[in-house]
Amino acid sequence: MSWLTEFVRPKIRTLLGRREVPENLWVQCPSCQQMIFHTELEKNRKICTHCGHHMRPTVAERLAWTFDDAKYTRIELPKVPVDPLRFRDVKRYTDRLKEARDKTQLDDAIAVAHGTLGGQRTVVAVMAFEFIGGSMGAAVGEGILAAAKLAVLQDAPLVVFTASGGARMQEGAVSLMQMPRTVIATRLVKEAGLPFITVLTDPTTGGVTASFTMLGDIQIAEPGAEIGFAGARVIEQTVREKLPDGFQRSEYLLLHGVLDMVVKRTELAAVLARVIGLLRVKEKQAA
Ligand SMILES: [Zn+2]
Repeated sequence: MSWLTEFVRPKIRTLLGRREVPENLWVQCPSCQQMIFHTELEKNRKICTHCGHHMRPTVAERLAWTFDDAKYTRIELPKVPVDPLRFRDVKRYTDRLKEARDKTQLDDAIAVAHGTLGGQRTVVAVMAFEFIGGSMGAAVGEGILAAAKLAVLQDAPLVVFTASGGARMQEGAVSLMQMPRTVIATRLVKEAGLPFITVLTDPTTGGVTASFTMLGDIQIAEPGAEIGFAGARVIEQTVREKLPDGFQRSEYLLLHGVLDMVVKRTELAAVLARVIGLLRVKEKQAA
């Protein structure tokens, strides 16, 4: 970093003001390296028009794609103690949080909303990979719990979209405690006789996979999503064996019984609506 890039460029940027036009009109697909025009990509729900690769969406996009007519109400999530361990690596954790908040306009790596899905009242929680790798600290645990309580209150099913690198290491043991807490949250929903559906998106790993994610009544994943607990390299080193092709990807996990369905993003809302409809009919018959 020179004086020129560090000082002059930001100054020029401020002088020019925020640009209305996105800086990059073309997006390169990380899978096939082809260039896609950004409006075309947006129209196709961030699925590569060349190879079908599902790129990571923002929380706002995910919510809009899921609810009927893109209409939903977000709820405010409970506040949690900030930086309980006063953690610092190369940066202070509080600075990291502030940066992530500025970048994403989110309080933490989760958002919870309610609305209708196929005309049925539904609560949806979405994890934000763009917020410190979607890592699960106290705020995410609290968010999952709040979503579960809201589902019970509204007598509505709970759908959780997961995207996470695992535990929020800056919160240490507090982060690990969110695993049992989120498991309890799923129990609340199940004890109320309501469907709990997880949609695993790229990537869903670590403590999130090892807790509530795998407890869905129905487990759906997007195509090609990386899903696992430990990373492939760690496993390879431990078992000293070459792992099969597509290991820890949706399709492989579907084949081995971990998932119920792999659904293309463009069909996801319709599939969720159908699954919820089917589960709730059964419930009414049982009552
Ligand atoms: Zn592609």
